[in-house]
Amino acid sequence: LRAFGSDTRLPTVALVVDLLRERGAVSRVELAEATGLTRATMTNAVRRLISLGFVREVGTARSQRGTPRRLLELQPDACHMVGLQFDRFRGVGVIVDLAGRIAARRELPVVGERRPDEVVPELAAAVDEMIAASAVARGDIRGIGLATYGPQDRDAGVLLTPQPTSEWQGYPLAAALAESTGLRVAIENDATAAGIGAQHLGAAPSSFAVVYMSGGIGGGLIIDGHPYRGAASNGLELGHISVDPSGPVCDCGNRGCLDNVASPVAVSSLARRTSLAARLGLGADPLEGFDLLARAAAEGDSEAAELIEASVQHLAAATVTLVNLLDVSSVVLAGSAFTESGGRYRDAAQEVLDRSVFMRHVHSVSVELAGDVAHAAAVGAAMVVLRNLLESPNIGDRSARGR
Ligand SMILES: [Zn+2]
Repeated sequence: LRAFGSDTRLPTVALVVDLLRERGAVSRVELAEATGLTRATMTNAVRRLISLGFVREVGTARSQRGTPRRLLELQPDACHMVGLQFDRFRGVGVIVDLAGRIAARRELPVVGERRPDEVVPELAAAVDEMIAASAVARGDIRGIGLATYGPQDRDAGVLLTPQPTSEWQGYPLAAALAESTGLRVAIENDATAAGIGAQHLGAAPSSFAVVYMSGGIGGGLIIDGHPYRGAASNGLELGHISVDPSGPVCDCGNRGCLDNVASPVAVSSLARRTSLAARLGLGADPLEGFDLLARAAAEGDSEAAELIEASVQHLAAATVTLVNLLDVSSVVLAGSAFTESGGRYRDAAQEVLDRSVFMRHVHSVSVELAGDVAHAAAVGAAMVVLRNLLESPNIGDRSARGR
């Protein structure tokens, strides 16, 4: 873990949990040294975590001067969070423990063009079923993180877009799900959540850009370990950057948007107008169709390969723009659309970045798939719940109890 600048410093308790998750058993002195915090501050943070049962003393180690130091270890089972990710095409749920490990997972009902008052009770039922099917006690669940598309008002827990139907705009999404489940609910942008999830699912660096692909294409950014949320929790609107200024006008008002040439929705829709529709049995579900096309392309179907390759190259070119704008040295791909074809998208983006990113002579840029592309956003949403809990000022404070 790197040192944080004062303006981005995490609350101590959250920082200690991150360090223990990363390093295993360590002493208070090591924690103080690693964070640059005083021993008194560290002792206070550790006391709070022990009183919550999140951290335990697990024996001693001898220091260089021979003084025994008590070692501390995270208790992963002491706390669990639910993470959900949905858009109109796909939805998955996970239960994640304090260490960021997935304790349970399931698919969620598909939203399609349905209204929120129809969907929310189904999400609540899916959460109930997932908890019941897991080994986790309901009382140990600290809340639900819900990752979905932006723009959003995270504080109010509402979406600021009439997608997929007008009823969703301003609908009290977080409040309604909290009411149906009895659990706290926090909403998060799906691409941003995928970035947070990637940090817990693999060795993501402290700063990186996220390319998120479900039916459409989005983006996210993690800076020094912290998500960049912009003004409206919309992530980076990668799908609506213009890749062809004289291209057709998009619904968004811009011309030649990436989404309209490279997204699984666009690729599937193009394929349905060709002989591929009958040959591969393409149905209405764009992600299912996209996976069928990707598989056919990998198996040598030239017509499918042409469509997939056009998407691959457009996305790679957009990734160069993303990296040129942000000067990151790492890009992470996440989202269910990368389940089947992620390797091809990664390889092509890497190749194009290696030969065309402006800063390539100064530093390299790596492209990686998130540890679990289809669940990264759900895991990240769950970790947002934990982060909110650890950042609350009175966490584990005995004097604040019973109020
Ligand atoms: Zn657009």
